Amino acid sequence: MANVTLRNVRKTYVGGFEAIKGIDFDVGDGQFCVLVGPSGCGKSTLLRMVAGLETITGGEIDIGGRVVNQIEPADRDIAMVFQNYALYPHMSVYNNMAYGLRNRRMAEAEIKTRVEEAARILELGAMLDRKPRQLSGGQRQRVAMGRAIVRQPKVFLFDEPLSNLDAKLRIAMRVEIRKLQRRLSTTSIYVTHDQLEAMTLADILVVMNGGQVEQIGNPLDIYQKPATTFVASFIGAPPMNLMPLRSDEIKSQLAGDARANEAGILGIRPEDFVITNETVSGGVALGLTVEAIERVGAETFLYGTRQHEVQGVAATPGELPPGEIIVRIPGAVGPAIGERIRAVAASDKLHLFAADGRKRVG
Ligand code: ATP
Repeated sequence: MANVTLRNVRKTYVGGFEAIKGIDFDVGDGQFCVLVGPSGCGKSTLLRMVAGLETITGGEIDIGGRVVNQIEPADRDIAMVFQNYALYPHMSVYNNMAYGLRNRRMAEAEIKTRVEEAARILELGAMLDRKPRQLSGGQRQRVAMGRAIVRQPKVFLFDEPLSNLDAKLRIAMRVEIRKLQRRLSTTSIYVTHDQLEAMTLADILVVMNGGQVEQIGNPLDIYQKPATTFVASFIGAPPMNLMPLRSDEIKSQLAGDARANEAGILGIRPEDFVITNETVSGGVALGLTVEAIERVGAETFLYGTRQHEVQGVAATPGELPPGEIIVRIPGAVGPAIGERIRAVAASDKLHLFAADGRKRVG
């Protein structure tokens, strides 16, 4: 069994900067955990602490039932895949994969078995004699994964492994990593700032912000019930529309909704609007003027401004300018620029948060 458990883990860098402010979570045996958050939130620091590449200032990290705080990286039974692959340029693919095993003085016959098995899984069998420069970016990334696989570690750690690849290859490799991890059932922790990668890979998603955890859970649960406005605007693209509830027309529409008493901010996802002139009971209707349109084929994004301008909602990453609303509609048809539309969201599509955005109230 290889659970990874973090208990009140803290990191203060030399100089006094507190990068990790007390983090707790548990990754079950065979689970795929993704750490996601904006640049500087501390994801790499946390992963490097699990790897043993960074000292732990406080708390405990437990891998497979053993506290590893004082254990050297090489003795933690983990294998890490980095974004820059870190392949040895002068060595063949075979030797790159064999290198770590030779360092451990494993018998050549066993090394051969493991490298060939990894090469088969990763479809690198025909490339074992090549040098890294003779490979594509995706193939190099697979060699980097091969090096991790041959170690047969208890835990895989991935630090933004796909960020040097182009968009199409990223998606292909994302699917490959997930298939590979399912097949090997190795407990994994994966760092990314890409919320789509996070959503699609994770069994457990840990959303981080400023050295702390904002929310932990199953990705779809987080998408459907974000705990804070930070999570609401970070998970989902385009982001959730967030509107302050003041004495404007939205507030009066929510007069019959008990949740609104405690709420200061209303959130509605772009795909949860319907454009209609019909009256709705219990939901919210926004009068919008369409300012811009993006048609991407299967769907269309409308950027509208509310006719009642909203001001001064606390800024969180990815948030819209005050008064701007994004509506996502299926297909390639829809209103024209300058048109006035009525965008309606049903009651069960509303997300309500406290005025400081730190708590979900319904
Ligand atoms: P990114 O996505 O940009 O890599 P991240 O979430 O992985 O960001 P970290 O690299 O973990 O963030 O850094 C977290 C914070 O700690 C940042 O504010 C960073 O400036 C700071 N930091 C990182 N390394 C050090 C260091 N050696 N000394 C002091 N501060 C550091």
